[in-house]
Amino acid sequence: MQLSHRITHLTGGGSDGWDVFYRARALSEAGEAVIELTIGEHDIRTDPAILRAMDDSARGGHTGYAEVPGVAALRDRVAARVQARSGVPTTRDNVLITPGGQSALFAAHCATCDAGDAALYIDPYYVTYPGTLRGAGARPVPVRTRPEDGFLPRPEDIAAAAGPGAKSLLINTPNNPTGALYDRTTLEGIAQVCRDRDLWLISDEVYDTQVWQGRHLSPRALPGMAERTLVVGSMSKSHAMTGSRCGWIVGPEEAIAHLINLATHTTYGVPGFVQDAALFALDQGDGMEQRVAAPFRRRRALAQRILDRQTAVRLLPPQGAMYLMLDIRATGMSDGDFANALLDAHRIAVMPGESFGQAAAGHVRVAMTVADEVFTRALETLCTFAAGCARPAAG
Ligand code: PLP
Repeated sequence: MQLSHRITHLTGGGSDGWDVFYRARALSEAGEAVIELTIGEHDIRTDPAILRAMDDSARGGHTGYAEVPGVAALRDRVAARVQARSGVPTTRDNVLITPGGQSALFAAHCATCDAGDAALYIDPYYVTYPGTLRGAGARPVPVRTRPEDGFLPRPEDIAAAAGPGAKSLLINTPNNPTGALYDRTTLEGIAQVCRDRDLWLISDEVYDTQVWQGRHLSPRALPGMAERTLVVGSMSKSHAMTGSRCGWIVGPEEAIAHLINLATHTTYGVPGFVQDAALFALDQGDGMEQRVAAPFRRRRALAQRILDRQTAVRLLPPQGAMYLMLDIRATGMSDGDFANALLDAHRIAVMPGESFGQAAAGHVRVAMTVADEVFTRALETLCTFAAGCARPAAG
């Protein structure tokens, strides 16, 4: 039987750049000791206190269908958090609770794009973006950034890509994979293009608690932007709750009302006990968020010290998120060849930059998601390996 074009072309057909990841997993499963620095999953588990709140809620009977828009108390809590951090008046009517940030991204594009509309996104990007936009029926249009700009987008490039039929722009700050934190000037430039070209702005802020340098600014707070911005948030990264699948969309009331309707016909909400656990977690305030973010802050500093001592690999110091972008162009190798050779030689798995778009060619992404000593050893080995690769080219 024929399947839909929509589902069979979700990934665009080409290699998805995840070969190194799958090879590393296969080696691990075959019993080899592989250091996996590939995906964005914490090396700690969800805090036991959050799990107790989940258990209490489930045992207390919150196991039936939950309210589709989200439990009122959690919507209020998310609204208060967003208002406190951005200064934009926000109520529960601006909030839809979703099963994680990923489904929020899909829903946001369903809400903003009709079939065939152009949905812009910034390259390098979080791997699922083009497939998510395609799945929502939109036509993904990448806007390339440059390493020399710290991978910050130039508003004129966004304007040039926003041809007729462009409906939305998706940005991500702090950024996966580059670690870039969009500054006010960049965000004001982006906002200007959105207003001029009548674009929706979909702002993926799932890393907003992982900021190492500078301050996170939500573009929803910029003049004229609250009415055209959908902010995507999640408990996954902030509270090590990746498996709980709990996130949200914050946006204009009318858009949220329609998104609730979409949820009624797709997800039918998020389990009540998961939402109660998320509410408990958010009620713990900044302290818990900082504890979850602390290992990445520490490892970022470790990485900086290791990388400062050598010249074969260049670090673009991340301003946020849990990854390092390493420029390996001095080795003369492609990022895919480098990552595969590193896995073959040392059983260390990193993601080739091109898994995240053409703009990240010549780079590899390292997830800071293993214990400090393992992380240190892996980075030192990576640098020595890169220096060894660079030698023949230099000679
Ligand atoms: N957005 C970005 C930039 C991500 O890196 C991720 C996960 O890695 C997500 C969204 C989705 O997160 P979740 O669906 O777990 O909330």
